[in-house]
Amino acid sequence: MQISQEFDFFVIGGGSGGLAAAKQAASYGAKVGLADFVKPSPQGTKWGLGGTCVNVGCIPKKLMHFAAMAGELRKDQIEAGWIDTDIQGKHDWNRMTENVQNHIKKLNFSYKNQLNKKEVKYYNKLAELEKSNIVKLIDKDGGIEFIKSKYILIAVGGRPSYPENIPEIEKKVITSDDLFWLPNNPGKTLIVGASYVALECGGFLNGLGYDTTIMVRSILLRGFDQEIAGKIEDYMMENGIKFIKEAIPINIELTENNKRLVTWTQKGIQHSDIFDTVIIATGRKSDTNKLNLEQIGVKTNKNGKIICTIDDRTSIMNIYAIGDCVEGRPELTPTAIKCGQLLANRLFGGQKKMMCYQFVPTTIFTPLEYGCIGYSEEEAINKFTQNEIIIYHSIFKPLEWNLLESHYAQACMIKLIVLVSTRRVIGLHYLGPNAGEIVQGYAIAMKLGATKEQFDSTIGIHPTCSEEILTLTAIKGIDNPQKEGC
Ligand code: FAD
Ligand code: NAP
Repeated sequence: MQISQEFDFFVIGGGSGGLAAAKQAASYGAKVGLADFVKPSPQGTKWGLGGTCVNVGCIPKKLMHFAAMAGELRKDQIEAGWIDTDIQGKHDWNRMTENVQNHIKKLNFSYKNQLNKKEVKYYNKLAELEKSNIVKLIDKDGGIEFIKSKYILIAVGGRPSYPENIPEIEKKVITSDDLFWLPNNPGKTLIVGASYVALECGGFLNGLGYDTTIMVRSILLRGFDQEIAGKIEDYMMENGIKFIKEAIPINIELTENNKRLVTWTQKGIQHSDIFDTVIIATGRKSDTNKLNLEQIGVKTNKNGKIICTIDDRTSIMNIYAIGDCVEGRPELTPTAIKCGQLLANRLFGGQKKMMCYQFVPTTIFTPLEYGCIGYSEEEAINKFTQNEIIIYHSIFKPLEWNLLESHYAQACMIKLIVLVSTRRVIGLHYLGPNAGEIVQGYAIAMKLGATKEQFDSTIGIHPTCSEEILTLTAIKGIDNPQKEGC
């Protein structure tokens, strides 16, 4: 076997985590290589450098969320006094996707440039472990080379997983890997799943004017505050999204005119309907099965996620793993990036700091956004006794909504979960406009261990939704959450 190059650090996967780790390691003068290769989706969709977030995740999703909200603003414009607003105007899918894709292509190009500038050698090749310090690289034409590296980082992320009960399902449905690159609008759409991806995609498709149904196997947003999950469902239904609850698809057939005849069971009864598009959003599996991990001795769990120590080391001393492909890590871009940078700091920068996964903020970009940090009410009640926590809550109406009749007055909610002993805020939940922007700032306070009294003594900015978080007095179980006046 001939070795074509030797590196200090070789990264498999050019997504959020892999790119961040490679660039950080190179900034310390390490000799770094990175391989990124996109295996086409079963529908044949492919994309460029940058991984899930840039190409088929956070970025196109947020742009399409914005596009949907821009359409919904037309109703608000009329009530705010604008004339000649064409509320019946249709959305142009091709124009939106062209603009979204152009932005993504610019990002793909800029990532290549960044690697180039940092002198990271980029391989657009599929990587596989040959030995614990040798990686086999295969190009699209089957050409093979081998590189050697002191440390290897696996950052291969994940891909959508499909329910196993429907034969040849991959040929009849799409996933989020295809949606953002669809050449034609999806039309009447069924989405299967009830978490981040299903609710976000369902939210923007309905906002763009497509008939949208979401099929929920059990509950919405498992692991999140269930009172708020219920309010998200209510708001989405008010907006016209249909939910089929406690149901699973049992068959999907392609019809002669290229539609999908879907049969499902709901509480023991069979139903069926025809859709133009079916999107499967039933979770993701790590993309590790062709890496040769077992032969090398890198341990994985039964779902293929790599088992790592807290310092991101796999069961092989010089092989590390970060991001979505690792067991027990949040599947989020900022955590993958931070983890990759900290690992490079430890390997090449003489630093010791480990990644901390406590109080990681997150936002679900549903039509009414939901941001949270720390414990949900259910988790807090499970972990502590009722006497150890106090839950403050508020249902509020953003000031601007008073101009508009179209918004649902009970929609927005804030919840703070506070430890009685220390008064530390251990859970923050905000359902309302701009949740991502609002919750991000509070993440610093939560990380620093802020107490309810410190929240209360902070001066708000008036009139904003964010200030509502600083003025909570109603206690759950005692006081009505409904807020009156400003
Ligand atoms: P990835 O970004 O998935 O990168 C892995 C890369 O490795 C890919 O380019 C892959 O092609 C490549 N690869 C795989 N195998 C090989 C191999 N053998 N050889 C070479 N290359 C290989 N997170 C947020 O924080 N905010 C959001 O708003 C958000 N929205 C999302 C929306 C959707 C629809 C989805 C699906 C995800 C979203 N996420 C969001 C999650 C986020 O995208 C991921 O957590 C993040 O991209 C994980 O980064 P990663 O580096 O672990 O893997
Ligand atoms: P997920 O969070 O793992 O949720 C999977 C959903 O599919 C659940 O509702 C689950 O229902 C359902 N499901 C699973 N198997 C099913 C089956 N066979 N039939 C019907 N329903 C089934 O997956 P995801 O929504 O794809 O998100 C993946 C990850 O991407 C998330 O963990 C998140 O970290 C990341 N992400 C983040 C953002 C963001 O930050 N805004 C956005 C998108 C994605 P049950 O509850 O019944 O199991």
